[in-house]
Amino acid sequence: MKRNSLAPIMGINRLRIGTDGKGITTLVAFYGCPLKCSYCLNPQCHRALSDVTYFRPDEVYDVVAKDELYYLNTGGGVTFGGGEPLLYPHFIGDVLNLGAKKWNVTIETSLNVPYNNIDYLLPFINEMIVDIKDIDPLIYESYTQSSNAVVVENLKRLAIVGFVNHVVIRIPFIDGYNTLDDIYKSKHFIEDIGYSNFDIFQYKTRVKL
Ligand code: SF4
Repeated sequence: MKRNSLAPIMGINRLRIGTDGKGITTLVAFYGCPLKCSYCLNPQCHRALSDVTYFRPDEVYDVVAKDELYYLNTGGGVTFGGGEPLLYPHFIGDVLNLGAKKWNVTIETSLNVPYNNIDYLLPFINEMIVDIKDIDPLIYESYTQSSNAVVVENLKRLAIVGFVNHVVIRIPFIDGYNTLDDIYKSKHFIEDIGYSNFDIFQYKTRVKL
C-alpha cells in the first residue's frame, strides 16, 4: 500500500452471481455520488459522509480476498460500485495493488467524474459498466439534476484510447423521463462514438430522492 488512504464504504457483498460482472463476484460499494437520480437505486449512498464507516485498503482487500478461489475458478473477481466508485480512484488502486490485479476487475459507474479519475484506473480495469441514463442533455438533467457534458466527453476519450471493447453501456427506460425512441437515439449516438456492447433495461427501483 503506497498511502494511508481511507474511503467511505457502504457495504462489501460477497458471492454474487450474474449481477455485476463475470463469474462469482464481490461488490464493494462506496458512499457518495455526484448525481441525484430521481429513482436512485441506492439512496443510502447519499448519507452524510461525516456519518458513515471508513475503511483502509487492506481492510477491503482482506474481505474480498476470502473468495479468491471462486474468482479464479469462475473468471470472477471484484466489482466496485456505489454510489460512484470513480470518486475514489486512488483508494481502489491501493486495494488492487495489494494483490487483486489477478482477479477480474469491474467498475460500475455513471462516468460523471473528471477524466483523470478514470485514466488513473484504466491499467487495472477489465470491464466498465456505464449507466448513461439518457444521452439527451435535457432528459439527463431533469432526471439527475446534473449535466451530462462530462459523460459524453469521457465516452469519447475512452474511445480514443481504445477502451470501447471493455465497456458495457447501460441505457435504462426511466418511467416518466424517457421513451423507447429516446433510448434508441442514445444508442445510435453512442454507437457512432464506437461502442457496441449495450444493456437496455428498465429501472425496477422507484425511490424518489
Ligand atoms: S448514479 Fe444515480 S442511481 Fe446511481 S447512486 Fe448516483 S444518484 Fe443513485
